[in-house]
Amino acid sequence: MKSFVHRGQITKVVFGSGTRAGLGGEVEALGRGRALVLCTPGQTAQAREVREILGSLTAGVFDQAAAHTPVAVTGKAVDAARAADADCLVSVGGGSTIGLGKAVALRTGLPHLALPTTYAGSEMTPILGETQEGVKTTRRLPEVLLDTVVYDVDLTLTLPPHVAAVSGLNAMAHAVESLYAQDGDPLAFLTAGEALDALAVALPAILRDPADTEARATALYGAWLAGTCLGTVGMALHHKVCHVLGGSFDLPHAQTHAVVLPHVVAYNAPAAEAAMARIGRALPGPDPAGAVFDFAGGIGAPRALRDLGMPESGIAEAADLVVRDGYWNPRPVHRDAVRDLLRRAWAGEPPA
Ligand code: NAD
Repeated sequence: MKSFVHRGQITKVVFGSGTRAGLGGEVEALGRGRALVLCTPGQTAQAREVREILGSLTAGVFDQAAAHTPVAVTGKAVDAARAADADCLVSVGGGSTIGLGKAVALRTGLPHLALPTTYAGSEMTPILGETQEGVKTTRRLPEVLLDTVVYDVDLTLTLPPHVAAVSGLNAMAHAVESLYAQDGDPLAFLTAGEALDALAVALPAILRDPADTEARATALYGAWLAGTCLGTVGMALHHKVCHVLGGSFDLPHAQTHAVVLPHVVAYNAPAAEAAMARIGRALPGPDPAGAVFDFAGGIGAPRALRDLGMPESGIAEAADLVVRDGYWNPRPVHRDAVRDLLRRAWAGEPPA
């Protein structure tokens, strides 16, 4: 057997339906009693409900979380936390809100709890992406690991099926890249495979019946597993491409992951045999990349970067940015190959 190093997680995880009712107990278990609740402007209703659950343990609500964690918004949230004399943070939302919670926790040292409402997985990672003057930087910082994550399936029932589909593919992308990670380990491999199995079953079921609570629970379970992998092992070409497309071309996060994933699977297939075999178990088909492409199309995910607002003229620049800083990938990455991959993804062609 190959030698390995595994890093364990410190975050407490509570999972189930109706688990938000126990949030006050989780705040108190951290020795805290004045929570600032964070959300996006679109999720104020869920934040209000959390405020009611917390009752006297709430110090206030900050409802301006935004995509890509703009530093200016973080500054306002830090001011709000200080003005309210908050002693902990509760993020209610997806990756944008949890990103804000991490950024505020980093600057204030406050403990951070989250109720995730998408499948992005940020709650399980030490990764913080922030934007300042249009430039997005990403860091891995143990200080931003959350103290407590309360997964409540009920909070995901309002996620529209088409958003659930792309957010689920975002989670599947974490799992796929964990299967061939440079610093991968047996636990990450098992976890990633289980995440793929769960999401492969749950996402089509949610599309068939958005009120299927068992499918919603299975998807959230898969998202937790995938997020755990993202938090413990390093990512490769897929995440680099999506980072460039999101950061420099402002493409929407989950949708971009959904379009790019089959193309990177095709590119890495010759260099990642065990990973491809595991993807094939979750998504049977003649080849893993084709199976991912068909699966994504089958749950209504977008197929073309041009439909997400990517200009054709940006393909060459994006390829340059992807190869510029150099990073590990199971198959060596060359600019022309990345340009071809991006051109196919831009046009919505099948992976090759
Ligand atoms: P998001 O948090 O921006 O949410 C997308 C939209 O859906 C928002 O308008 C939100 O208000 C709404 N929404 C969320 N949950 C809902 C629900 N249950 N019902 C109805 N509406 C809901 O999107 P996301 O894809 O979760 O996160 C994307 C962001 O997270 C990006 O900035 C990305 O870089 C970051 N991210 C970070 C990490 C990390 O480890 N640091 C991991 C994944 C994503």
